[in-house]
Amino acid sequence: MDSIFGFEFLELQKDLNLKGFEKFRAGQIFKWIYCKKVNDFTKMTDISTNDRIKLGQIYDTSLLYDFTELVSKIDNTKKYLFRIDSKNFIESVFMVENKRVTVCLSSQTGCSLGCKFCATGKESGRDLTVDEIVRQFLTIFYNNPQRITNIVFMGMGEPLLNLQNLLPAIKIINSDKGINIGARKITVSTAGIIKGIEQLIKFPLQIKLAVSLNSAIQEKREKLMPVSKTNNIYDLKKILKDYQKIKNKRITFEYIILPGINDGKEDVEALFDYLKDIDCKLNIIPYNKTVEDFREPTEKEIKQFYERLSKFKNAVSIRKSKGKDINGACGQLRGKFIIS
Ligand code: SAH
Ligand code: SF4
Repeated sequence: MDSIFGFEFLELQKDLNLKGFEKFRAGQIFKWIYCKKVNDFTKMTDISTNDRIKLGQIYDTSLLYDFTELVSKIDNTKKYLFRIDSKNFIESVFMVENKRVTVCLSSQTGCSLGCKFCATGKESGRDLTVDEIVRQFLTIFYNNPQRITNIVFMGMGEPLLNLQNLLPAIKIINSDKGINIGARKITVSTAGIIKGIEQLIKFPLQIKLAVSLNSAIQEKREKLMPVSKTNNIYDLKKILKDYQKIKNKRITFEYIILPGINDGKEDVEALFDYLKDIDCKLNIIPYNKTVEDFREPTEKEIKQFYERLSKFKNAVSIRKSKGKDINGACGQLRGKFIIS
């Protein structure tokens, strides 16, 4: 049985037609499942009883029912650990900050890029399918009364290595026939996959791009993020400038503070030099301890790094660590549940 959540609007119209239904059923179904939070055909009262029964036999409407929800006592951030098949778990996060309600989603069940500081990078996983990405979002949407305003793909995995499923999922979430979250409210974070950025440039929706930089010194970055060996910071910068020119969009850079490793004076100078001619925003993320080789920065170290950056002409914002008590950083929670 095909999951209903794998279809873009026009695809669903076509599929319904092929299966003998009228095309306008697609609009009704999208409204029920994506606007009214009803994923049970028998309750779709504007569809004939006969069609409701038939639809239920053809399409699977199940969300991700097997999950654990952890709520942070500090800031009410919720972390979800979803089981998506017999072997694989993924994590997602739900955060409320004033009027902004953000969901952080995963794109893969692990990550093949093996960044040294990252829990997800310990194991390469598999790509999430279109419907798994959509169902991940929808399960959180159905389980929380707030209107979700923003989506970030900063959970497990490298979204740019799964563009074939990520982009259709984004189109479904963005569709004005359904959830209608604006493309400008959707951010995709990458470790800097140049081929993927080229593809994003061609993608018609104006989604936002975030790049996990973590060092603007090539040799150092290669050690922290091996992907940089084949996607070096110079080529990366070139493609980011193209992206900016074509999309006319400000790029966000993310930089984890790893004390004693990437927060010295020479690191800040290299960072300043790298970013000086790009219209960008810089998010500083205090490292959240996941692996033994690194330690978390102290408040003093965070402040000192921020002060070193203060001459920056671009906006520099410090991202607060959310849900620290429930293992806020990506891939951490899953690690605790995997036994074999
Ligand atoms: N693969 C993509 C998206 C997922 S990782 C990427 O790397 O951008 C999302 C973010 O979490 C990245 O910016 C990464 O640098 C950060 N991150 C990973 N492990 C972390 C940790 N232990 N503490 C803080 N941030 C972490
Ligand atoms: Fe993969 Fe991103 Fe983790 Fe690096 S930081 S291992 S790219 S998920």
